[in-house]
Amino acid sequence: MLAVAAVTQQERRLLKEMDDVQAYLRLIDTRCAQDSLSRGDVMDQANRIMDLAINLALRGLYTQKLKQLKRSSAQLRTGQYGVCESCGAPIDPARLDVLLDATLCVKCQRKNKQRNQYKCQALHRKDLARRNEETGNGVEHKMVKGGVEWQRMSYPCRA
Ligand SMILES: [Zn+2]
Repeated sequence: MLAVAAVTQQERRLLKEMDDVQAYLRLIDTRCAQDSLSRGDVMDQANRIMDLAINLALRGLYTQKLKQLKRSSAQLRTGQYGVCESCGAPIDPARLDVLLDATLCVKCQRKNKQRNQYKCQALHRKDLARRNEETGNGVEHKMVKGGVEWQRMSYPCRA
């Protein structure tokens, strides 16, 4: 558990980061609201759709970040801040210094990342199987260290 002074300092940093994230979210919302997709020619519209997609993706990431920061702030009050949610070991203060809302120690984060990678690969395989069924195209792939290596992409062109 952190000392009182460290808690206060960390709380201040969390609040500052929450403010920043909320400011980004407001900025994204303003941009999305101002963007009229039907203005301009087809290329302008395509660019705006791309911008909108990027802004929406960013919005999702920042919303997630804000949720995590709020959770960390609550943990700070209950004395659970800086304790790995998976193994219960204290999280390295250097890690918390760069990632204020870290909830896992490095070891558990690594395990989690690996698990997510496998889950992602499984989803890719499932998606491929579904697309192959839909299109009748054979897309072969093989597992390699750290990801999936695509052998042949044969999806029909949608353009
Ligand atoms: Zn851990």
